[in-house]
Order: sequence, then structure tokens, then C-alpha cells
Amino acid sequence: MKPHIHDILKLGKEILEIPSPTGYSEKIIPYLISKLNNLPYEYEVTPKGNLLIHLEGNDTSKHVALSAHTDTLGLMVRSIQSNGTLKVTTLGGIIVPTLDGEYCHVITRDNKLISGTILYKSPSSHVYKDANSGVREVDNMIIRLDEVVKSKQDVEALGIQNGDIIAIDPKTQITPSGFIKSRFLDDKISVAILLALLEYAHKTNQKPVFNTTFIISTYEEVGHGTAWIPSSITEMIAVDMGCIGEDLACTEYDVSICAKDSSGPYDRDMITSLKSMAVKKSLNHVLDIYPMYGSDVSAALRGGANIKGALIGPGVMASHGMERTHGDAVEATFELLKSYLNLG
Ligand SMILES: [Zn+2]
Repeated sequence: MKPHIHDILKLGKEILEIPSPTGYSEKIIPYLISKLNNLPYEYEVTPKGNLLIHLEGNDTSKHVALSAHTDTLGLMVRSIQSNGTLKVTTLGGIIVPTLDGEYCHVITRDNKLISGTILYKSPSSHVYKDANSGVREVDNMIIRLDEVVKSKQDVEALGIQNGDIIAIDPKTQITPSGFIKSRFLDDKISVAILLALLEYAHKTNQKPVFNTTFIISTYEEVGHGTAWIPSSITEMIAVDMGCIGEDLACTEYDVSICAKDSSGPYDRDMITSLKSMAVKKSLNHVLDIYPMYGSDVSAALRGGANIKGALIGPGVMASHGMERTHGDAVEATFELLKSYLNLG
């Protein structure tokens, strides 16, 4: 793997290790801003909490945007039970059976982190007949806290309340064979790619072809990430994971260009142009249809934005579960975005 691609994976790992379930961006956005402090670009945080980074283009007559979302799936405390365990509700569409046995942290309103484990409600095979067969759905899952708690009052004394965010351990690893495996590569690996593009443009002293805003959104997993974007933007690419599976051409080594998802077709001209850029650079790429997907471009269009939109991203296997992608897919995505911005 090329060193600069390995650097993107390492940056991705740093980002992945900062918890940011949807609705909790108070650690990740300051971290991303700390990365911007070494760069000359203006940025702002919108009232809702999205981070916008503005780059002047060589041609200032047009304004385009790239987005990636830094919010992830997670859980929230639904209730505290009399035996000192927690019941939960999901944040976004996580595959719940994959959560059985995972480590997590409850983040209290005064920002204490309390560790625990997500378990099926009948978790011991020596005791419960349904320990194997029980359905792992959210109503049947509990959190076992790593504190001496024997009652609801004991849990409350820790500062835990209904509505507290629960962050799941992403378990990020970069393998010698060039994979990054982790929860929440969707979409933090794309956030790392966008940061790397900013660093690349600065280091090589290049401007993008048009005025460009990089949008790091914080509510994508619940559907309204970029429902508002600045009105001067006329074209936008959501950089988000590519789907892998039945009826799909994408692999963990490709950049996926999405022609249509659940929100409908993406802009035909943009897809044609992205496809020809990928061919010109001989990038690993595919065109695919995502059967169950919506992006931040879908959110912007539904929010009333008057834009052409596209969706591209690295192929991510086992999405919303134990995800994995390869440096080759990250490289293809990075290179395609360089072409789009006309960075040499
Ligand atoms: Zn996503």
C-alpha cells in the first residue's frame, strides 16, 4: 500500500476511536477542527452542528460541495431496570444481533464514561434455555454496567439517566494485508479521505477548480444530515460507503459510483463524468444500484436544495455490522475526488 493511503487509514483509525453516535458530536467536531488549525481554510460550525470548510476555487463562478458524515450508529438508554441493567433504543439502523457481547460506554449528561457490555437478556447458557435461540432484537438486549450496581438507585447514583448516549467499541484494526476493519467505517473512513484531500490541496499549493465546501455532517444516520446547505451550492457529491453484496458489482477494492438508491436516481451528467474520470485514471471502480440506502445528497434534495447530486465511496463489506474495506478502495475514492476537484 502506498504510504499516503496508509496514512489515511491511520487517520481513519484516530477518527474512529472518538465516539460520535448520531446526536453526540461534542468530541469529534473539536477534534476535526484541531486538524484544520494547521490548514489555511476558513471553517464554520452550523447551528445544528455540521462542520463546513470553505476552499476558494480557481473559478469562483460556481460553488460545489463534498460531504461525509461523522455521526455513527449507536444506542441510547431507554430505561434503568430494578436489577441495575439498562434497556436501550437504537440510534440509526444497526444490525442488532452483531451487538451481542460488544463492549460499550454510557456517556452521562455530565460527560462521565461508564463502561459496560451489551448482552442478550438471557445471557448464560448454564441458566437459560434460549441463550442460543433467543431473538437478538433491541427490546431483548440489555447493558451490564461495569460498576457495583444492584438497583435502579445505584445506577442513578452514577449519574446515568434515560436518554444518555451509548457508544459501541468500534474495535478498529489495520491489518498488514491492507484492510481496515472496524464498526463505523460508514462514514468515518470518508471523513478521513476528505481531511486527506484538504491536506493534499494545501501541501501541493493547489486550489480546486470551483469554490468548494467540504461538509462534515452530524445527523446523516437519521436521515437529515445535510437537509440544509448554503444556497450558493449547485452541485454536491456525498462521499459515503459503497454497498457490497447480492446483485452488486462493488468489492472492498473499488470506489463505487451509485446510479440510484432508495431516494431515486442520482444526476446523470455527474455520474457520466465521474465514470469517465475513473476510466481515464484506470481506477478500480463500479457503477451500482443500492437497494436500501439514502445519502446526504438525498437529504439536501429533500430539504429543498437546488443541486445536481452524486454519491460515491469506498466499498464497505458488512455495513452497519462488523465492517471492512481495503486501502485500494480508499485510494480509488481519493483519486476520483482529486479528479473531480481537478487537483493534479
Ligand atoms: Zn453512511
